[in-house]
Amino acid sequence: MGVDVGPGPGLISALWSGGTLRGCACGGWNLMRILIVEDEPKMAGLLRRGVAEAGGVVDVTDSGEDALWMAASTPYDVIVLDVMLPGIDGFETCRRLRDDEIWSPVLMLTARGEVEDRVAGLDGGADDYLIKPFAMAELLARLRSLARRGPQPRPAVIAVGDLRLDPAERRMWRGEHEIDLSATEFALMEAFMRRPGQVLTRLNLLEAGWDMDYDNRSNVIAVYIGYLRAKVDRPFGRSDIETVRGAGYRLRRYL
Ligand code: CA
Repeated sequence: MGVDVGPGPGLISALWSGGTLRGCACGGWNLMRILIVEDEPKMAGLLRRGVAEAGGVVDVTDSGEDALWMAASTPYDVIVLDVMLPGIDGFETCRRLRDDEIWSPVLMLTARGEVEDRVAGLDGGADDYLIKPFAMAELLARLRSLARRGPQPRPAVIAVGDLRLDPAERRMWRGEHEIDLSATEFALMEAFMRRPGQVLTRLNLLEAGWDMDYDNRSNVIAVYIGYLRAKVDRPFGRSDIETVRGAGYRLRRYL
Protein backbone atom coordinates (compact mmCIF):
# COMPACT_ATOMS: atom_id res chain seq x y z
CA MET A 1 0.00 0.00 0.00
CA GLY A 2 1.60 3.23 -1.09
CA VAL A 3 0.66 6.04 1.26
CA ASP A 4 2.70 8.85 -0.17
CA VAL A 5 2.17 11.60 2.33
CA GLY A 6 4.45 14.58 2.45
CA PRO A 7 4.97 16.79 5.48
CA GLY A 8 1.87 18.86 6.25
CA PRO A 9 1.90 22.67 6.11
CA GLY A 10 2.93 22.79 9.76
CA LEU A 11 6.21 21.16 8.92
CA ILE A 12 7.11 23.45 6.07
CA SER A 13 8.85 25.91 8.35
CA ALA A 14 11.14 23.10 9.48
CA LEU A 15 12.05 22.15 5.94
CA TRP A 16 14.89 24.52 5.44
CA SER A 17 16.56 24.14 8.80
CA GLY A 18 18.77 21.26 7.78
CA GLY A 19 21.80 23.25 6.68
CA THR A 20 23.53 22.88 3.36
CA LEU A 21 24.44 19.89 1.26
CA ARG A 22 28.01 20.72 0.47
CA GLY A 23 31.24 18.87 0.92
CA CYS A 24 30.68 15.49 -0.69
CA ALA A 25 33.03 12.55 -0.32
CA CYS A 26 34.12 12.88 -3.93
CA GLY A 27 36.39 15.78 -3.16
CA GLY A 28 36.45 19.40 -2.12
CA TRP A 29 33.36 21.52 -1.77
CA ASN A 30 31.49 20.30 -4.80
CA LEU A 31 27.75 20.45 -4.62
CA MET A 32 26.09 17.22 -3.71
CA ARG A 33 24.33 15.64 -6.66
CA ILE A 34 21.15 13.79 -5.76
CA LEU A 35 18.87 11.61 -7.89
CA ILE A 36 15.28 11.45 -6.67
CA VAL A 37 13.11 8.61 -7.94
CA GLU A 38 9.52 9.35 -6.95
CA ASP A 39 6.31 9.04 -9.00
CA GLU A 40 4.02 11.20 -6.83
CA PRO A 41 4.35 14.70 -8.37
CA LYS A 42 3.64 16.50 -5.10
CA MET A 43 6.18 14.49 -3.15
CA ALA A 44 8.74 14.73 -5.96
CA GLY A 45 8.32 18.52 -6.07
CA LEU A 46 8.70 18.79 -2.32
CA LEU A 47 11.87 16.71 -2.36
CA ARG A 48 13.32 18.63 -5.29
CA ARG A 49 12.75 21.97 -3.58
CA GLY A 50 14.00 20.80 -0.21
CA VAL A 51 17.26 19.41 -1.56
CA ALA A 52 17.82 22.33 -3.95
CA GLU A 53 17.19 24.89 -1.19
CA ALA A 54 19.83 23.14 0.89
CA GLY A 55 22.30 23.60 -1.94
CA GLY A 56 22.14 20.18 -3.60
CA VAL A 57 21.90 19.57 -7.34
CA VAL A 58 18.79 17.51 -8.07
CA ASP A 59 17.64 15.27 -10.88
CA VAL A 60 14.16 13.79 -10.60
CA THR A 61 12.59 10.87 -12.39
CA ASP A 62 9.35 9.00 -11.82
CA SER A 63 10.54 5.58 -12.97
CA GLY A 64 13.02 2.96 -11.85
CA GLU A 65 13.92 2.13 -15.44
CA ASP A 66 15.01 5.71 -16.08
CA ALA A 67 16.89 5.78 -12.79
CA LEU A 68 19.07 2.90 -14.02
CA TRP A 69 20.47 4.72 -17.04
CA MET A 70 20.64 8.07 -15.26
CA ALA A 71 22.68 6.55 -12.43
CA ALA A 72 24.91 4.77 -14.94
CA SER A 73 25.83 8.06 -16.63
CA THR A 74 26.11 10.31 -13.55
CA PRO A 75 27.96 9.49 -10.31
CA TYR A 76 25.27 10.60 -7.87
CA ASP A 77 26.30 11.22 -4.28
CA VAL A 78 23.01 9.73 -3.11
CA ILE A 79 19.99 8.15 -4.82
CA VAL A 80 16.63 8.61 -3.07
CA LEU A 81 14.41 5.74 -4.12
CA ASP A 82 10.69 5.49 -3.43
CA VAL A 83 9.53 1.91 -2.86
CA MET A 84 6.16 2.13 -4.63
CA LEU A 85 6.82 2.95 -8.27
CA PRO A 86 5.04 2.04 -11.48
CA GLY A 87 7.06 -0.47 -13.51
CA ILE A 88 9.94 -1.93 -11.55
CA ASP A 89 9.64 -0.98 -7.89
CA GLY A 90 12.26 0.56 -5.64
CA PHE A 91 13.65 -2.78 -4.45
CA GLU A 92 14.13 -4.11 -7.95
CA THR A 93 15.64 -0.81 -9.07
CA CYS A 94 18.13 -0.99 -6.22
CA ARG A 95 19.03 -4.60 -6.97
CA ARG A 96 19.62 -3.77 -10.63
CA LEU A 97 21.77 -0.77 -9.73
CA ARG A 98 24.00 -3.03 -7.63
CA ASP A 99 24.00 -5.71 -10.35
CA ASP A 100 25.27 -3.00 -12.70
CA GLU A 101 27.98 -2.19 -10.13
CA ILE A 102 26.59 1.25 -9.41
CA TRP A 103 27.53 1.89 -5.78
CA SER A 104 26.01 5.32 -5.09
CA PRO A 105 24.47 5.23 -1.60
CA VAL A 106 20.72 4.52 -1.77
CA LEU A 107 18.14 5.92 0.65
CA MET A 108 14.79 4.10 0.36
CA LEU A 109 11.51 5.91 1.06
CA THR A 110 8.85 3.62 2.43
CA ALA A 111 5.32 3.95 3.80
CA ARG A 112 4.76 3.44 7.49
CA GLY A 113 4.27 -0.16 8.48
CA GLU A 114 6.35 -1.66 5.69
CA VAL A 115 9.01 -2.92 8.06
CA GLU A 116 9.51 -6.17 6.16
CA ASP A 117 10.01 -3.98 3.13
CA ARG A 118 12.80 -2.25 4.94
CA VAL A 119 14.60 -5.55 5.28
CA ALA A 120 14.03 -6.39 1.63
CA GLY A 121 15.37 -2.97 0.67
CA LEU A 122 18.55 -3.33 2.66
CA ASP A 123 19.09 -6.87 1.36
CA GLY A 124 18.81 -5.49 -2.15
CA GLY A 125 21.73 -3.18 -1.52
CA ALA A 126 20.07 -0.07 -0.06
CA ASP A 127 22.04 1.82 2.60
CA ASP A 128 19.32 3.46 4.65
CA TYR A 129 15.58 4.00 4.71
CA LEU A 130 13.15 6.69 5.79
CA ILE A 131 9.46 6.24 6.61
CA LYS A 132 6.89 8.65 5.14
CA PRO A 133 5.88 11.14 6.29
CA PHE A 134 9.17 12.66 7.40
CA ALA A 135 10.55 16.10 8.12
CA MET A 136 12.82 17.52 5.44
CA ALA A 137 15.51 18.21 8.05
CA GLU A 138 15.65 14.48 8.76
CA LEU A 139 15.97 13.64 5.07
CA LEU A 140 18.78 16.18 4.61
CA ALA A 141 20.63 14.79 7.62
CA ARG A 142 20.45 11.27 6.15
CA LEU A 143 21.62 12.53 2.75
CA ARG A 144 24.63 14.24 4.28
CA SER A 145 25.53 11.16 6.25
CA LEU A 146 25.26 8.86 3.22
CA ALA A 147 27.22 11.23 1.00
CA ARG A 148 30.02 11.39 3.57
CA ARG A 149 30.19 7.62 3.58
CA GLY A 150 30.56 7.65 -0.21
CA PRO A 151 30.05 4.82 -2.69
CA GLN A 152 30.78 1.42 -1.16
CA PRO A 153 31.24 -1.55 -3.45
CA ARG A 154 29.19 -4.46 -2.19
CA PRO A 155 30.49 -7.70 -3.56
CA ALA A 156 27.80 -10.33 -3.95
CA VAL A 157 29.51 -12.61 -1.44
CA ILE A 158 31.45 -11.28 1.56
CA ALA A 159 34.42 -13.38 2.67
CA VAL A 160 36.43 -13.18 5.90
CA GLY A 161 38.92 -15.99 6.37
CA ASP A 162 36.99 -19.18 5.61
CA LEU A 163 33.65 -17.52 6.39
CA ARG A 164 31.49 -16.53 3.44
CA LEU A 165 28.15 -14.74 3.50
CA ASP A 166 25.73 -14.05 0.65
CA PRO A 167 23.39 -11.19 1.69
CA ALA A 168 21.06 -11.49 -1.29
CA GLU A 169 20.48 -15.22 -0.85
CA ARG A 170 20.77 -15.10 2.94
CA ARG A 171 23.22 -17.96 3.10
CA MET A 172 26.39 -18.42 5.07
CA TRP A 173 29.22 -20.94 5.05
CA ARG A 174 32.29 -21.90 7.09
CA GLY A 175 34.50 -23.51 4.49
CA GLU A 176 32.20 -25.95 2.68
CA HIS A 177 29.73 -26.21 5.57
CA GLU A 178 26.58 -24.17 5.23
CA ILE A 179 25.40 -22.61 8.51
CA ASP A 180 21.70 -22.07 9.18
CA LEU A 181 21.07 -18.67 10.82
CA SER A 182 17.88 -16.92 11.96
CA ALA A 183 17.13 -13.52 10.42
CA THR A 184 18.54 -11.67 13.43
CA GLU A 185 21.64 -13.86 13.65
CA PHE A 186 22.20 -13.30 9.95
CA ALA A 187 21.91 -9.52 10.30
CA LEU A 188 24.45 -9.52 13.12
CA MET A 189 26.84 -11.79 11.24
CA GLU A 190 26.60 -9.55 8.19
CA ALA A 191 27.43 -6.51 10.34
CA PHE A 192 30.53 -8.31 11.65
CA MET A 193 31.64 -9.50 8.24
CA ARG A 194 31.31 -6.07 6.65
CA ARG A 195 33.74 -4.73 9.26
CA PRO A 196 36.22 -7.48 10.14
CA GLY A 197 38.68 -6.52 12.85
CA GLN A 198 36.57 -3.56 13.98
CA VAL A 199 34.91 -3.40 17.37
CA LEU A 200 31.12 -3.21 17.10
CA THR A 201 29.44 -1.69 20.14
CA ARG A 202 26.25 -3.01 21.64
CA LEU A 203 24.43 -0.10 19.99
CA ASN A 204 25.98 -0.91 16.57
CA LEU A 205 24.70 -4.46 16.93
CA LEU A 206 21.24 -3.42 18.14
CA GLU A 207 20.91 -1.17 15.10
CA ALA A 208 22.04 -3.95 12.80
CA GLY A 209 19.74 -6.62 14.16
CA TRP A 210 16.60 -4.96 15.44
CA ASP A 211 14.01 -2.41 14.36
CA MET A 212 14.34 1.16 15.48
CA ASP A 213 11.92 0.60 18.36
CA TYR A 214 13.75 -2.43 19.72
CA ASP A 215 13.42 -3.09 23.38
CA ASN A 216 16.77 -1.95 24.73
CA ARG A 217 17.35 -4.87 27.04
CA SER A 218 20.81 -5.17 28.42
CA ASN A 219 21.46 -8.84 27.71
CA VAL A 220 19.92 -9.38 24.28
CA ILE A 221 23.23 -8.86 22.48
CA ALA A 222 25.12 -11.21 24.80
CA VAL A 223 22.46 -13.85 24.22
CA TYR A 224 22.71 -13.55 20.44
CA ILE A 225 26.50 -13.54 20.49
CA GLY A 226 26.15 -16.85 22.34
CA TYR A 227 23.86 -18.20 19.60
CA LEU A 228 26.32 -17.12 16.90
CA ARG A 229 29.31 -18.66 18.63
CA ALA A 230 27.38 -21.91 19.00
CA LYS A 231 26.75 -22.00 15.27
CA VAL A 232 29.71 -20.26 13.66
CA ASP A 233 32.65 -20.91 16.00
CA ARG A 234 32.30 -23.78 18.44
CA PRO A 235 31.41 -26.63 16.05
CA PHE A 236 34.56 -25.78 14.11
CA GLY A 237 36.85 -25.39 17.12
CA ARG A 238 37.20 -21.68 16.46
CA SER A 239 36.79 -18.47 18.48
CA ASP A 240 36.61 -15.78 15.81
CA ILE A 241 33.85 -13.74 17.46
CA GLU A 242 35.81 -12.00 20.16
CA THR A 243 34.65 -10.08 23.23
CA VAL A 244 36.38 -6.74 23.65
CA ARG A 245 35.85 -6.00 27.30
CA GLY A 246 34.04 -2.73 27.97
CA ALA A 247 33.72 -1.97 24.24
CA GLY A 248 31.77 -4.63 22.38
CA TYR A 249 32.57 -7.48 20.03
CA ARG A 250 34.60 -8.00 16.91
CA LEU A 251 35.15 -10.58 14.24
CA ARG A 252 38.79 -11.62 14.04
CA ARG A 253 40.39 -10.47 10.84
CA TYR A 254 42.53 -12.96 8.94
CA LEU A 255 45.22 -11.41 6.80
CA1 CA B 1 5.31 6.17 -4.99
